[in-house]
Amino acid sequence: MALKFKVYTIFPEIFPGFLGYSLTGKALSEGKWSLETVNIRDYALDKHGSVDDTPCGGGAGMVMRADILGRALEANHKGGRILVMSPRGKPLTQQMVHEFSQEEEISVICGRFEGIDERVLEAYQVEEVSIGDYVLTGGEQAAQIMFDAIIRLLPGVLGNTLSTESESFENCLLEYPQYTRPIEWEGRKVPEVLLSGHHKKIEDWRKEQAIKITRERRPDLLKKYLDSKRV
Ligand code: SAH
Repeated sequence: MALKFKVYTIFPEIFPGFLGYSLTGKALSEGKWSLETVNIRDYALDKHGSVDDTPCGGGAGMVMRADILGRALEANHKGGRILVMSPRGKPLTQQMVHEFSQEEEISVICGRFEGIDERVLEAYQVEEVSIGDYVLTGGEQAAQIMFDAIIRLLPGVLGNTLSTESESFENCLLEYPQYTRPIEWEGRKVPEVLLSGHHKKIEDWRKEQAIKITRERRPDLLKKYLDSKRV
């Protein structure tokens, strides 16, 4: 069954956004995934469509109301995991992306303003997911980035399915350097070994390079890689 995203947002028009282009766009038109938006404003209690209010206890910004978001969830949630994009959340990893790609339906709440009333997150056992240690203006951007990572793992989305296996993070190593024609560019040559046609040597060279780059840039990942080899 094709994966379905149900997105709770006050900006439904942002979707599918860049997901409508390129590989993800093609997969969308082929029905390999689908997306439905729920406009949280439709569940407001006043005619202005207000969804937020000032924080209890004072402080800057506005907070999304539990009752309004609760009404939106009550009317639309039919089952499956509910995520909320949040800088407080569990940092998104390729492993989590794989896990999400196995689901049938994922609901995602996109925050805006200062945050969301904690009670609705508790009541619906919402899982908080962060896309990194920096702060965006809204959850829509974060959700689209997460969806992009999930969609490219769905069956038949990437032409060459082998291409995900050697990618950064798939085996705790960053990817080796890539080259294409011309063989010489402004005095810089493609490494000789890649032109040798010797598959084993090429594989060894790429592995060596991947380890070197990971050691330099992400010693934390290299440690995971070495630990995984030890068992
Ligand atoms: N006051 C909040 C930040 C609000 S940013 C705090 O300090 O945690 C507004 C919205 O943008 C958030 O509700 C969330 O949905 C989204 N957002 C911002 N940064 C994000 C990140 N790193 N990952 C995921 N979502 C993020």
